Amino acid sequence: MKYRFFYTKPVIIILCCVAMSILCICVVLVVLTHKNNSKTTDDVLRITADTNVCVVTKYSCGHMAQYTTSEYTGYTEDMLRQIANCKITCFSIDKVTMEFSTEKCCENHFLLMLAAENTLAIFSTDKKPLADAQIMEIVFETSVISENEYMRLKQGIIFDSLEEINSYIESMET
Ligand SMILES: [Zn+2]
Repeated sequence: MKYRFFYTKPVIIILCCVAMSILCICVVLVVLTHKNNSKTTDDVLRITADTNVCVVTKYSCGHMAQYTTSEYTGYTEDMLRQIANCKITCFSIDKVTMEFSTEKCCENHFLLMLAAENTLAIFSTDKKPLADAQIMEIVFETSVISENEYMRLKQGIIFDSLEEINSYIESMET
């Protein structure tokens, strides 16, 4: 009995080790074949050169801008979803629509800002100075406006047209 006990214990341990090894090898093989399969049988839909890829930008002013691009050829839907802030609203072999939302206003507006003490400046919304230097700077007596309005002007107020800026300044001065 004693002899048998000492004989069987190592055998069981060895058998367990062998079984574990076989299990490990099996797991590795399954993982490898799965990897190979997903590589070879790539039936995931990809953007081709013929796909109409439309990139839409939604601005905070409510306006939208869009353009088509070929820069995403070869991309899958999952790859596009990795792009920050990108929302896919359509993904087919013919058409892909990517949407980006931004807190910014589109370029079809004007930004009125306090440039210096008693001086207002008008910029296009992307803060590039306007080509026409005549409307760039406006002398404006800031002491007549409320502190709240002063802070708003310091941040910059967005207007849809130069006419609106004119009437705003007129209303502030009276
Ligand atoms: Zn706009």
